[in-house]
Amino acid sequence: MRFAFYSRQDSLSETIQKTLHEKLVNQGFVYDTENPEIIIFIGGDGTFLRAVHEHIDAISKLVFVGIRSGTLGFFCDYGSDEIDALVTDLVKKQTVPSAYPLLEASLNFEGKQTKIFAVNEIRLENPFRTMVCEVRINDEKLEHFRGNGLIVSSNLGSSAYNKSLGGALVDPLLPTLQLTEIATIQNNVYHSLGSSVVLAPNRVVSLIGDLHRSVVGYDHVFLETEDNLGSIDIRLSKKTVQILHKKNHSYIDLLHKTFVVD
Ligand code: NAP
Repeated sequence: MRFAFYSRQDSLSETIQKTLHEKLVNQGFVYDTENPEIIIFIGGDGTFLRAVHEHIDAISKLVFVGIRSGTLGFFCDYGSDEIDALVTDLVKKQTVPSAYPLLEASLNFEGKQTKIFAVNEIRLENPFRTMVCEVRINDEKLEHFRGNGLIVSSNLGSSAYNKSLGGALVDPLLPTLQLTEIATIQNNVYHSLGSSVVLAPNRVVSLIGDLHRSVVGYDHVFLETEDNLGSIDIRLSKKTVQILHKKNHSYIDLLHKTFVVD
């Protein structure tokens, strides 16, 4: 099997990479940065996001597996002390692949369209002045939003920025879109939903308005453009990202260990 790394590049991650490289080559695996089949990311969840974006054009041909070199991560199944366990699982093909849909957005500028993809969420924010836009779901009006911004998160992204904004955690096995408000204005003149809404996988969320001073963020990436953005259509993509999990991987256990302090 052909493998490549994506590392956070701190000293622990670099040491793990060196050790793992040697052990995998000894087992007959081939290090191939041009045409890999498996990307081993070493770091945390942020490292996974960066690895996916680095390989977005070849995403359908790749699987990702993570080793943590920091705190507990949602995407990293193996700890820094489990290098041998990962090698054994890869050699014996004992990992379990799971495919998760990415988010996809069409950004509609005057006269041109740009497509972006994200693992966690796609955000539209205006940190400078009130962002005003119409929110439509499958082309039906939901609301006229006023506030700092809106995010649409995937099931995988529900535990990231979405959670900090009071959105719900969504089981990764349940493909959904979740629309969550950022600092919405609520008073006797302006109203909006005021809560997150979890939507079925075939919904399209459209944000329409005078958006040219708003910032589009997706995962760790920000889109900077001088062009006038008129609307964004956000949906679940047909593209998926495949993660190799340990045989005994458990989302509930991960939630417990990450967020519940016993
Ligand atoms: P980053 O340093 O890459 O990530 C920020 C934090 O979010 C890190 O602790 C990261 O974990 C964690 N994280 C990322 N994806 C997660 C997921 N699906 N579930 C649980 N935790 C997750 O920061 P960045 O480069 O600015 O942006 C990357 C992501 O950070 C965005 O997609 C966004 O969701 C998140 N973010 C969160 C907030 C917030 O909660 N207020 C604000 C901005 C951005 P690791 O330490 O393991 O890397």
